[in-house]
Amino acid sequence: MRAFVMKEIGTVGFMEKPVPKPGPNEALVRTTQALICTSDVHTVDGAIGPRTDLTLGHEAVGIVAEAGSEVKRFKPGDRVVVGAITPDWGDPASQAGHPSQSSGALGGWKFANVKDGVFAEFFLVNEADANMAIIPASVPDDKAVYCADMLSTGFAAAEHGTIPLGGTVAVFAEGPVGLMATQGARLCGAGFVIGVESVPQRQQLARHFGADFIVDPSDGDVVGHILRATEGEGVDVAIEALGNETTLAQAIAAAKPGGTISSVGYYGKGDTIGIPRVGWGVGMAEKTIVTTLCPGGRLRLERLLRLLEHRRVDPSALTTHVMPFDRIDDAFEMMRTKSGGIIKPLVQFAPVAIERGEVETKERARTR
Ligand code: ZN
Repeated sequence: MRAFVMKEIGTVGFMEKPVPKPGPNEALVRTTQALICTSDVHTVDGAIGPRTDLTLGHEAVGIVAEAGSEVKRFKPGDRVVVGAITPDWGDPASQAGHPSQSSGALGGWKFANVKDGVFAEFFLVNEADANMAIIPASVPDDKAVYCADMLSTGFAAAEHGTIPLGGTVAVFAEGPVGLMATQGARLCGAGFVIGVESVPQRQQLARHFGADFIVDPSDGDVVGHILRATEGEGVDVAIEALGNETTLAQAIAAAKPGGTISSVGYYGKGDTIGIPRVGWGVGMAEKTIVTTLCPGGRLRLERLLRLLEHRRVDPSALTTHVMPFDRIDDAFEMMRTKSGGIIKPLVQFAPVAIERGEVETKERARTR
């Protein structure tokens, strides 16, 4: 099968790999659609250390090609979305309520980290019964694929911020995760949502996904603008969706005393991250900083799919580019340079051997 890999730090390319064989609890999934993520770019830049010929990608939907002998819930032909994070559910961290941290810090993150990812014609899902979900017939692949990471991560940023009903929220950086955090804040009942973003296209998308007010950081004094927009109070919840020391400092300063800073960014560079002394109320303003890695699990995926199925959410506007798998290298480069107005590139895999059920599903989706 063909795979798109990180050959070494700084180098990507295609290579041939054998189709993997599922173990008893695993499923082999034939990839149909996938999304490129900025964290794939961080990985290639060396953020998690060296890797050799590692298949990239962690956001995908596909068709079950083969299910291991112990897999009970899935069978070949099932159309599924797979979590970007695929925890070890028996691990103590999972049992303590932190499955994304099972088997060590960030240990639920396996695709394109400790095992091959989804940018290949087939990929393996560990603990398949718990880590993927059947896509409802009315939800097309190009929407369901957002459940893998963007909806799960962005919404978790809002959920972990425990936004009070009618509360105020600022979202720092309206990239794909920030945009879904903006949507998540609205779903969680925020009364006023501020988007902090300088790129006009992203400002527009922030409004589309629920921002009431935009602060443009290129105008300077971001915190001052947020304070003025909230009658001097600051926000109940400040969501940092970039992974940048400056925006984190602004988020800390913009949160009101007793407020929450929900950090969901991937801090890909540097050794330390500073906290603004005064903005943090000299350490005594009862501001809470929470951090989040994408939640995984079948139940989570099923809930996100329900939001799509019943049209509470439509992530389609995030898809700015659609490309065949053959051109994933171009899409990856665009994602690296953030050129051409790219938000999320959707990668489509050519049908290898189309099952009848899948064709029908796609046609149904198309005629809706
Ligand atoms: Zn991702």
